[in-house]
Amino acid sequence: MQAHNGMYIDGDWRPAAGDGTIEVVNPATEEIIGTVPAGTAEDVDAAVAAARAALPGWAATEPAERAARIGALRDALAARRETIAATVTAELGAPLSFSEAVHAGLPITVAGTYATLAAEHSFEEKLGTSRVLHEPVGVVGAITPWNYPLHQIVAKAAPALAAGCTMVLKPAEDTPLVARLFAEAVAEAGLPAGVFNLVTGVGPVAGQALAEHEGVDMVSFTGSTAVGRRIGAIAGGAIKRVALELGGKSANVVLPSADLVKAVKIGVGNVMANAGQTCSAWTRMLVHADRYDEAVEIAAAAAAKYVPGDPTDPATRLGPLVNAAQRERVTGYIRTGISEGADLVAGGPDAPEGVERGYYVRPTVFAGVTPEMTIAREEIFGPVLSVMRYEDVEDAVRIANDSSYGLAGAVWAADEAEAVAFARRLQTGQVDVNGGRFNPLAPFGGYKRSGVGRELGPHGLTEYLQTKSLQF
Ligand code: NAP
Ligand code: MG
Repeated sequence: MQAHNGMYIDGDWRPAAGDGTIEVVNPATEEIIGTVPAGTAEDVDAAVAAARAALPGWAATEPAERAARIGALRDALAARRETIAATVTAELGAPLSFSEAVHAGLPITVAGTYATLAAEHSFEEKLGTSRVLHEPVGVVGAITPWNYPLHQIVAKAAPALAAGCTMVLKPAEDTPLVARLFAEAVAEAGLPAGVFNLVTGVGPVAGQALAEHEGVDMVSFTGSTAVGRRIGAIAGGAIKRVALELGGKSANVVLPSADLVKAVKIGVGNVMANAGQTCSAWTRMLVHADRYDEAVEIAAAAAAKYVPGDPTDPATRLGPLVNAAQRERVTGYIRTGISEGADLVAGGPDAPEGVERGYYVRPTVFAGVTPEMTIAREEIFGPVLSVMRYEDVEDAVRIANDSSYGLAGAVWAADEAEAVAFARRLQTGQVDVNGGRFNPLAPFGGYKRSGVGRELGPHGLTEYLQTKSLQF
């Protein structure tokens, strides 16, 4: 058990103002693996003051020097790759192989992209007789969730720092240990004191204090739609810049010409990854009526291969959910699916066989899901796939877009042009064509209720800039 009592403020680990603590639980063993301080408004004040004091210096630092520091941060994260993976497996429950490749690997890649972008970005442009300066927004308050805990930190911190902003991070209470590793990497990377500050704590206390703080110029939030709406209202009321990365209910559209086996198997894998706790997961699979029964059979068989197990075992592909509340929420949705008349073809609401502890949920597939059902409309955030039937391409477009969300999606067809034509009609921020490939430079963010703004790559950088125009 690691008992931590410091928070990273103004370039130092400082004790919290209050004496509250947060217990970090391993969701596979249900054991407490560490404690961190539960920060209060007083700690947020100290952190924001440090970020404000550091802002003029960092904003005036040459982009090449900022790029060098972000490069050093990337290297400091890379040096901790194994510790990061083990920590995320311990506090989130993600299988170790996935933690190594994604939870550790992806943020290292993203930090690397911003080391390059900070150096190459044009922070000035000429428009007619004007010179337009792209200046940092100021002090950023970042509030992040637990599902991709380090990625979501880096997807805010790296562009904010590249832009010349300073920041205060309030990470999720379920996954604060990897946030501490990030702060250690910041310290090692030689960023000036106060440029990055960490306050651990719970959302309604430390998170709310940060979002409301007068010294914060921009709030960048990733998490639930319910909290995102609150944060958006607070930011709107104070006329602050806001970026919101919220939920999704993305459609995986298998067009009639597609390689059905490939599309369905990859689609199932996409939903089961990270135990279904992925905002961009393709949780609605849309298949043409003629091939529907075949698709359901393939999906059920593919899902059954995700046997829940110990996340530290390299063979495990499906770990537990992050906490007991999320497990209850997800099994509640599975019960709702059954009671609303969907056909359970794999998994179910009961604990997996032979599992005595840990917040596990069985890999679950529903067939016969219709657009008005709760499981077709709401974000479940667990290993649960809904397979839906369409009659023709128009019907597929209508069902895919019949969602209050619009974060991601996929289209499969024999011909790429056919898939692209379909992708153009989707109301969503990203579409993977025939499996696609993750691109860390591609803008990520939502249409509709999935959010406001974009993360990653050059689009993610410009979120943290504001413009000043000089006329001659
Ligand atoms: P959440 O409450 O929205 O948590 C996200 C972050 O916001 C956490 O750091 C949280 O702190 C903080 N927060 C909570 N209440 C706050 C407040 N009043 N003011 C400021 N910050 C606040 O999400 P959750 O409860 O952990 O998860 C619930 C559901 O949200 C999931 O089932 C899923 O549907 C969705 N979700 C989506 C994403 C995504 O990537 N889009 C990520 C996570 C969850 P605490 O950690 O202390 O709560
Ligand atoms: Mg919460």
